[in-house]
Amino acid sequence: LRRNAGEPEFHQAAREVFESLGRVIERHPHYAEGSVLERICEPERQIIFRVPWTDDSGRVHINRGFRVEFNSALGPYKGGLRFHPTVTLGTVKFLGFEQIFKNALTGMPIGGGKGGSDFDPKGRSDAEIMRFCQSFMTELYRHIGEYTDVPAGDIGVGGREIGYLFGQYKRITNRYESGVLTGKGIGWGGSLVRTEATGYGTVFFAEQMLATRGKNFDGARVLVSGSGNVALYAIEKVHQLGGVVVACSDSAGVVYDRDGLDLELLREVKEVKRGRLSDYAELRGSASEYRPQGNIWSIASEVSIDVALPCATQNELDDASAAMLVAGGVSAVAEGANMPCTPAAVRVFSEAGVLFAPGKAANAGGVATSALEMQQNASRDSWSFEHTEQRLAVIMKGIHERCARTAEEYGEPGNYVLGANISGFTRVADAMLALGVV
Ligand code: NDP
Repeated sequence: LRRNAGEPEFHQAAREVFESLGRVIERHPHYAEGSVLERICEPERQIIFRVPWTDDSGRVHINRGFRVEFNSALGPYKGGLRFHPTVTLGTVKFLGFEQIFKNALTGMPIGGGKGGSDFDPKGRSDAEIMRFCQSFMTELYRHIGEYTDVPAGDIGVGGREIGYLFGQYKRITNRYESGVLTGKGIGWGGSLVRTEATGYGTVFFAEQMLATRGKNFDGARVLVSGSGNVALYAIEKVHQLGGVVVACSDSAGVVYDRDGLDLELLREVKEVKRGRLSDYAELRGSASEYRPQGNIWSIASEVSIDVALPCATQNELDDASAAMLVAGGVSAVAEGANMPCTPAAVRVFSEAGVLFAPGKAANAGGVATSALEMQQNASRDSWSFEHTEQRLAVIMKGIHERCARTAEEYGEPGNYVLGANISGFTRVADAMLALGVV
């Protein structure tokens, strides 16, 4: 704690994993050897750098850039970049730590890392975003590479930003190294389904959990928080499977559409116009109710809810909200975002017997499809949408099976938190032990 002072989210993420590991060490004491537990908490490398850039009026701004290269026992560091004013080293470390186990759970050859900046893209022009991305990459390029560290998007970093980052990398290095970043555009090395992958994957995972209780999405009423990349495609897949998403949110408010969200309009507002949910509500008219600063989970105290998919940000769903969801009849919760439920909320779900999927399992479809993008880049190939979605569905099924089997092996069937932590940890720890003290 002293070494990582002022990093509460990192402590939270580490504590959550370590709470599951006592049983592994009891059964397999060799995992406590070679200081694996201490080593896994210490990033292999942390880079902090200055990002100077000029706005449209000529004013110079300074932001801070981060890249935490956490663990490369299984492959090159892999994890997204987040641009949001709340980003600190602690945020990036918690995300990087989670990423190690998530990436291990996919069964693919990728290590864990994460990065970002406290830059706020909201309200910035295209030209400002481009200048910021170019400046960010002017430092980052020396630390990354197809075999070293492969960043991707996260909050505030989508296809546009990856384009500017890739353009600057190519320019500085004079190399068309497609595998250095994932989340690229389809016309220049990107993979079909990458945009949809995290949201779709979360719903695939929830579908597998529901099936263990003989349930499915058909006719289910669903709440999805957020309205960014993960949320939009979670909503799309729920609708494709016959469910009805009645509400979503952004940091300013909640829209509640009793009969289901109009996904086409939502995508138009968020993806094309880069607008706010208040714009959606205005265009949707009387079918929609907009609640400024509302709590999306409280809708469960007005109508019954079957499934909740928190897809916005960390610690957005606390124990009071969890209690409302339980009282509203929720039977499954799958984290599309990273650590959106507080530890107290997870306890409420567990005590109520609600199926609960932690982000490191439920949202692993995004990074898994990034690994598929790397495969396509390496073989100079591009796969069809159907083939790639099929691969994603199989990967999510595999992650679900791995978590469920491990939870059962350790005497807690249905405990996906335990299953995900143990199964991710043992894969990484086995590789770390095999590679020696490095
Ligand atoms: P986006 O930037 O596309 O969307 C984020 C959404 O969350 C927006 O609706 C945003 O609202 C809302 N949000 C952000 N911060 C806050 C906050 N402090 N309070 C309330 N709402 C907030 O990001 P993504 O959809 O890509 O990411 C969402 C989550 O999913 C993150 O936790 C991310 O780490 C995780 N994730 C993403 C993956 C991906 O492939 N994109 C992969 C795995 C995990 P507003 O517009 O008002 O800011």
